[in-house]
Amino acid sequence: MWMNMREEAVKIFEDARSEGRGFLLEHEAKRLCSLYGLPVTKIFLATSEEEAVKAAGMIGFPVVLKIVSPQVLHKSDVGGVIVDVRDEAGVREGYRRIVKNVAERVPGAEVRGILVQEMAPRSTEVIVGSSRDPTFGQTIMFGLGGIFVEILKDVSFRLVPITRRDAEEMIREIRSYKILEGARGMPKADQEAIIEILLGTSRMLMDCPEIKELDMNPILVYERGAKIVDARVIMD
Ligand code: ADP
Ligand code: MG
Repeated sequence: MWMNMREEAVKIFEDARSEGRGFLLEHEAKRLCSLYGLPVTKIFLATSEEEAVKAAGMIGFPVVLKIVSPQVLHKSDVGGVIVDVRDEAGVREGYRRIVKNVAERVPGAEVRGILVQEMAPRSTEVIVGSSRDPTFGQTIMFGLGGIFVEILKDVSFRLVPITRRDAEEMIREIRSYKILEGARGMPKADQEAIIEILLGTSRMLMDCPEIKELDMNPILVYERGAKIVDARVIMD
């Protein structure tokens, strides 16, 4: 049966809530993002080594492997992310290594499987996020990834919904804007792709009051196009 976006989104939130979870797992968050046209990596949830090998074959090497567990919100902190996996042996070894790492570092964690995904080539990293201001409501944030956001706090904010004009301004008003223009040998970033992500995120936030916090970090931006490689959603 055909379902509209909102119905599908509600189902994603309800499935999480029915397990008493207050956040979406990465594959659920990416599914939600893709409903609103946001460019996420190809993903496949594998529940066995065999399935992971098959998934990697369908996606194409290299791939990235990630833990899927309701007890793990920050995956790389617990050895739950392996990038640049190049062949079948690597998938098998990686699958086992992630399960082992998580068992050691988060005793009792329930492993739902391993998320196999397309490996996005390195490029300029940006982040788009959202949190709820108690007075003004849902906000949207934009910045460059890594030290720019963590140390320099070089980000821009708006309340949602935003217009195309707002999105353009959000991009231009960060202090490190020149990096997106290709300063210091960086590749020139596709600003139109970033604008589309900001507008799609704004639509998703307007449509989904269940989202208390959103963190798409990092998003890799190319000369043409962009790819969201991690997405986290905390629910109300
Ligand atoms: P965490 O839950 O720790 O934030 P991420 O999903 O962000 O985990 O993965 C950690 C890092 O691995 C990312 O910051 C990014 O540098 C890299 N990475 C993750 N997924 C991909 C991908 N599909 N393609 C390329 N790099 C990736
Ligand atoms: Mg991340």
